[in-house]
Amino acid sequence: MDTDIRKLLKEIAAEDLIELFAPCMDDYLYIIDLQKNTFKISQAAVNRFMISGNSFDDAVNSFQYFVYKEDRSMIAEDLQCIIEGKEKDHNLYYRWLDKNGMPVWINCRGKVIDDKDGKPHYLIGCVNEIGDTQRADNVSGLLGERELRSYISSHIKDSSSVYLIYIGIDGFNAINGTLGVDYGNYVLKSVADCINSCLSDNQKLYHIVADEYMIIDLESHTKDDVMLLQKKICKKIEEFIISEKYKVVFTISTGIIYAKMLLKYYDEYRKIAVFSLKQAKSMGGNGVYFFEKEDYELFLRKEKIKSALRNAVANGFEGFDVYYQPIMDCDSGHMIGAEALMRFSMYQDKKKEPVSPVEFIPLLEETGLIIPAGRYVLNKAVSMCHEMSQYIPEFKINVNMSYIQMVKSDIWKDILSSIKQYDLPPECLCAELTESGYTDMTPYFYKLRKKFEEKNIQFVLDDFGTGFSNLHCIVNMKPNYVKLDNDFTAKAMSNARDFELLKKIVEMVHSIDIRICIEGIEKEEWYQKLKEIHVDYLQGYLFGKPCEKNQFLNKFIFHCTDQENLTDL
Ligand code: C2E
Ligand code: CA
Ligand code: CA
Repeated sequence: MDTDIRKLLKEIAAEDLIELFAPCMDDYLYIIDLQKNTFKISQAAVNRFMISGNSFDDAVNSFQYFVYKEDRSMIAEDLQCIIEGKEKDHNLYYRWLDKNGMPVWINCRGKVIDDKDGKPHYLIGCVNEIGDTQRADNVSGLLGERELRSYISSHIKDSSSVYLIYIGIDGFNAINGTLGVDYGNYVLKSVADCINSCLSDNQKLYHIVADEYMIIDLESHTKDDVMLLQKKICKKIEEFIISEKYKVVFTISTGIIYAKMLLKYYDEYRKIAVFSLKQAKSMGGNGVYFFEKEDYELFLRKEKIKSALRNAVANGFEGFDVYYQPIMDCDSGHMIGAEALMRFSMYQDKKKEPVSPVEFIPLLEETGLIIPAGRYVLNKAVSMCHEMSQYIPEFKINVNMSYIQMVKSDIWKDILSSIKQYDLPPECLCAELTESGYTDMTPYFYKLRKKFEEKNIQFVLDDFGTGFSNLHCIVNMKPNYVKLDNDFTAKAMSNARDFELLKKIVEMVHSIDIRICIEGIEKEEWYQKLKEIHVDYLQGYLFGKPCEKNQFLNKFIFHCTDQENLTDL
């Protein structure tokens, strides 16, 4: 047989070998006749790259069309050496251009075949894509995403619905970090085995990335069926952990999607799967999350706002603004200062969409953008206070400061530089602190608190009476005054028991020599009631809604505003 094949192959022209073998391989075969300067490559390469046809008369120059510009001189030099007989092997890593002109990393290997006289005649070899998604993962022993796609296209009809189950190992990095990569790989393989042992023929498992696996489930019909499968998998993993004598302890998270028309919308479902797994992970170990469209829409909206916030910060705070709301002295009814409140509008299709602070402030905190945005508000507010001091010499400005700003930025430096720039007496600045983080009075925070005290910058505990800022907090922090939240005020004004509680809070706070500001005053009668119990300061729509600086000046200083022109916020 050996001789038969040799005989047969000799009868086939070298160029025709490509046509013969190319369809059986993923790699692209090529042959260059170094003497005639012709070039032939398999049709699959023509379909994939910027190659106009599968044979060329001018091999050397043909490369300029599909080789990435920066790599052309390298390939030309190598080819020259081959033509001159200086090199017999070709093995280069460089980039070709795909049909869209995008670079694709390839490895081009080849062997030179000499003619009878020992002169280089052919360069024959193959090209394979090295940046391509792997077909299979040698660690988990599973097929990869490329195979998953091909399974979908061959087994799933457009009309069928399936469950996609996306599983991730929780804290896998820590396993690699503490027990080593080899053991990590062993865990990856074992998890794949555990999952596989729970599956039927209608449930296929693929390795997606690192420590994440996807099951295409054509067997389950209901959520309960999928939950049962998930429980079975968790149990198997538990058994594995026990068999390892708890050398490693970990959980998995599972995102589950009921997918219709998976064939058509695989890429969309892939994004949703990533989202669902993230949701599951946020639930803690062994979390299961069933995809809900509403959650995803909320997530997309948050991402949209985050991206708008990033752009706005990068573009000189375009879309950000600072509004001011007056703070009144309860006894005299005079305005003593204002609270600076951040505003943000997104621009979309040239339309302006205001976003509520309740929505965007947490996103600024999450992204860390609260640091530059908070600095922007601080500077604007300090400058506004400086301007106001011409009319009301003791005017005070309250600026909200997030916990993130306090611990992750040099807020102290920002405050000093701002009050210096606008020549503001430090006692005119009040830092309002909200957020749960303040309850941990770390040494760093004590130091910062002391700096405020020494410099005579006012310190206000915001949202007193809600969840986090409690009695413990007030004793530790020694604020100049506390602010009672809007919600609390509204309750106290409509319910006698709550009003009694409010009264007791005012007495208690006064008894430890701390003042109190009550927010959310919307009615004259509320004001009168609070005056009777000797509240120190008041804030609310009754006195003024938050508005732009110029409107604020017009209304409270020049007394010339038409009320209706005030921005209603
Ligand atoms: P906050 O510090 O408790 O601010 C008071 C909120 O009550 C403001 O909401 C204000 O518009 C609203 N308000 C004022 N008077 C009344 C009233 O009579 N009735 C009712 N129902 N509400 C009233 P806003 O402006 O939507 O701000 C919400 C929260 O966003 C603020 O609550 C604060 O926690 C945060 N925030 C606003 N600006 C900043 C900022 O520059 N930095 C930081 N870190 N947080 C900010
Ligand atoms: Ca506040
Ligand atoms: Ca509040």
